[in-house]
Amino acid sequence: MSEIKILDQKIANKIAAGEVVERPFNVVKELVENAVDAGATFIRIDIFDGGLGLIKVTDNGRGILPEDLKNAVLRYSTSKISNIEDVYRINTFGFRGEALAAISSVSDFKIESKREGYEAAELQVYFGRVGETKPGKIQNGTTVTVKNLFENVPARRKFIKSISAEQREIIRFVKIFSSINHNIEVELFVDEKNVITFSKYDSMKDRFISSFGLNNVFYINDNHNNIKIEAVLSLPNVQRNRKDYIFVGLNNRVIKDFALTQAVVQAYFRKLPQNKYPAGVVSIKINPDAVDVNVHPTKMNVKFLNDRDVFSAVNKIISSNLGKQQLSNSGSVVYRLDNIQTNYFVKENIINYSSSVDELVTSSYSDTFEEKDEIKVIGQVFDSVILVEKDGEVYFIDQHIAHERVLYEKFISNTNNFVTKIKLVEPIIVELSDNDKDIVLNNLNNFLRLGFELEDFGGNFISILSVPTSIVHKNIENEFVELLNEFNNNKSDNFLDSLSLTMACKTAIKAGEKLTDYEMSKIVKDLFETKNPYTCPHGRPIVYKMSKEEIYKKFHRL
Ligand code: ADP
Ligand code: MG
Repeated sequence: MSEIKILDQKIANKIAAGEVVERPFNVVKELVENAVDAGATFIRIDIFDGGLGLIKVTDNGRGILPEDLKNAVLRYSTSKISNIEDVYRINTFGFRGEALAAISSVSDFKIESKREGYEAAELQVYFGRVGETKPGKIQNGTTVTVKNLFENVPARRKFIKSISAEQREIIRFVKIFSSINHNIEVELFVDEKNVITFSKYDSMKDRFISSFGLNNVFYINDNHNNIKIEAVLSLPNVQRNRKDYIFVGLNNRVIKDFALTQAVVQAYFRKLPQNKYPAGVVSIKINPDAVDVNVHPTKMNVKFLNDRDVFSAVNKIISSNLGKQQLSNSGSVVYRLDNIQTNYFVKENIINYSSSVDELVTSSYSDTFEEKDEIKVIGQVFDSVILVEKDGEVYFIDQHIAHERVLYEKFISNTNNFVTKIKLVEPIIVELSDNDKDIVLNNLNNFLRLGFELEDFGGNFISILSVPTSIVHKNIENEFVELLNEFNNNKSDNFLDSLSLTMACKTAIKAGEKLTDYEMSKIVKDLFETKNPYTCPHGRPIVYKMSKEEIYKKFHRL
């Protein structure tokens, strides 16, 4: 008896399913791409339980003939190629005739379709068991319903992270897909809730902005060497820490291609600081003869016959259009391409900000010194230590930690409007992890107290509207992210306390800064008004004292 068996069709499909459909999102992608191939101008997607319960895709495309319905779910059956040359001449998304066979082998599957001038028909496939074609009752177009995905493949189901993760992935895909295919009306319903509606009047830019909450973008429609590019990309004042908001479409399909992403990144060379990335969507159209999409079953990866041409076209078009932004964006210029590092323009005349000691200047000059204080500021040594005579003793005060103590107490106290803040002309958009975003949203008031006016910007973004004047000269996004990181590192239950500590440390004057007499007086006076002038919040001493006796002894006067 031979040991090697030819797999029966059902098992083969099940194995193929593992390749084509790893996650519910792959099903959505395949079905949506089929709809585009069928010339649909409207696509509606419904999902339930992250796509595991239900995925339903309805389109108004050309539909399938009743007698072809069964063929559609057979492996290697496709209307899109008839000879081997066709495999290399792909203008449509599908071409392997694998997707419906694979999907229907791992789900409770139904396809309903109607071609204009023909009867509607429907076919059920129950986890690979193909039923009979029956008369249907739908309008022109096709509806595919996929229920209980992977129920017969528990191993696959185990790989699914969580319903919410699957749901997020699908929503994200539909957003990217909609931006790339902006001529198609798209609707997405998640658990019966309408989460995306794009009409045919929404431009690529509209769709991208409303999907990803990023406003600072510009539009490109250009071509180079027969390579056409339509894109919506961020202006250089958007600086992302990762590349994962650079989306690429090729001949209307969402793809992942390292080299193309890199081409986009390189177009921003010298316009963004190192390790900062743009965001956006780039839709590339090239002659299908020049691309082999048949590289991976999930067809996210592609292979170009001449990568270098495509790469350089993408790079050239984006960088030249990026250059033009500088000139055309006259009214509300909020960035300068040549000077991006220090480029947070602030609304003038809101407040006069000065050095990093500006918090000191919030009260009027006259309240700083009064005779009865009996504190005499002598001066500063090493640009770091303030010398003070008080109650018959000499005080050596560490200027940095003294100021830190002062700021810390002001931050945690309820003094409103203590911190001077400044409104930015254009908000700065920052991407955060889910966790950090939660922290921020739960602490908007605490941040406000410290001078950060923040707003939810949708997705994983927040926008920074105002900042404390003390950080306006710095890289604001960096400062903000560092602040959050430091907070996460010394986790404490009291957010305000921890944030105040971090903020105080970051914004206090540093050792090595020369201070004016006024600044020294102000720090010293404020210090002795704090609850604990002698120890910094981290536990370091602030003041070192020497008594008159000690000093006199040195001179053998006593
Ligand atoms: P492929 O897309 O690679 O051809 P599929 O398994 O995805 O393979 O689809 C098989 C065939 O079923 C397609 O070639 C097409 O003829 C038909 N088909 C699938 N979905 C649709 C749809 N939404 N509208 C019209 N025809 C469809
Ligand atoms: Mg297909």
